[in-house]
Amino acid sequence: MITRDSKSPRKLVARHLEGIPRSGIRDFFDIVSTMRDVISLGIGEPNFDTPWHVREAAVFALEQGATGYTSNLGLARLRAAVAGYLDATFGLSYDPKDEIIVTVGVSEGIDLAMRALLNPGDEVLYHEPCYVSYAPVITLAHAVPVPVPTRAEHGFRLQRADLEARITARSKLLVLNYPNNPTGATLDREGLEAIAACACEHDLTVITDDIYGELTYEGKHVSLASLPGMKERTIFLHGLSKAWAMTGFRLGYACAPPVLIEAMMKIHQYTMLCAPILSQEAAVEALRRAEEDVEQMRSAYRRHRNFIHAAFAEMGLPCQCPGGAFYAFPEVSHLGISSRDFAFGLLEEERVAVVPGTAFGESGEGFVRCSYATGLDDIKEAMVRTARHVERLRR
Ligand code: PLP
Repeated sequence: MITRDSKSPRKLVARHLEGIPRSGIRDFFDIVSTMRDVISLGIGEPNFDTPWHVREAAVFALEQGATGYTSNLGLARLRAAVAGYLDATFGLSYDPKDEIIVTVGVSEGIDLAMRALLNPGDEVLYHEPCYVSYAPVITLAHAVPVPVPTRAEHGFRLQRADLEARITARSKLLVLNYPNNPTGATLDREGLEAIAACACEHDLTVITDDIYGELTYEGKHVSLASLPGMKERTIFLHGLSKAWAMTGFRLGYACAPPVLIEAMMKIHQYTMLCAPILSQEAAVEALRRAEEDVEQMRSAYRRHRNFIHAAFAEMGLPCQCPGGAFYAFPEVSHLGISSRDFAFGLLEEERVAVVPGTAFGESGEGFVRCSYATGLDDIKEAMVRTARHVERLRR
């Protein structure tokens, strides 16, 4: 084991990691993995396998000897397929030549965007509760995370006034994620227009993480990048992990004005080089037949959503009806218990795993996240057990 004398003036691990905690989700699930007979509503991962024709495309590519690097930006065929898909699906127009870069999941896209844009001390606004990686990645880019709380009474939609209240002369970037992890909230055109107007007025660049865009259950997803005047100041992030059940392929992409794609590409070419070629080949096939695959999964998730939402209503836990993604975010605070204690109690007493809301930032206190990308029979049994636990807490 490598150790260093404690008197040594140089520390082994870099300073910028000191304030970064391990993901609350990982810690919780390290405990879950030691227990038996647990029904997990914890992991944000589809309960489907990747559609067979997509897996077959990867196998075929491998058989054909597709085992090398691709261009740094990604296969030209894939970038063309992404451009066609985004135009048809979200009305977004990007030039595959210099406005799209293929990344190793949206995770890499988030990191590239932050490192390409931020100088030390720049402030980055993001609505909270939010996906666990935003704040750490901002910190690793030597910038300052500025959470903007969203609240259940507003359906966890970011309010312009709340955003305005946290803007300073150092604010540079806003991160938006709708449909949202962990709340399941969506933001309609009107809500987006208010945020867009604010971004323009304060000259903010925006990262919009639309990874759950296809998983919208009422109406169609509208991307901030599609609003007038927003394409020029927006980095649009998307990928195939969620709506295509392709988490393990690690395939995403970022779309932005050429100057930003060029900046992101510089980091990508020296750190990642390119996304895996087999995943890129699989993605070409996935986008070719996107509509029917995605619709199949979306309609299953819609059924799961309707069931879980009704179940929480029946047991008296307030819960917004999730408009998108595959998470329900019921409130447990009125039971007189913290979200962490609720989650640990439910795990211990009833062997159901949910994630404490605080894993998604302080404003997640009082809530727990339940992923309904889980088999319906398991969801049904988990709800019976949860209702029993809630009843016990009420007594
Ligand atoms: N963005 C959000 C909002 C997510 O919920 C996740 C995964 O849970 C990611 C990004 C990471 O996705 P990927 O698998 O494409 O890296």
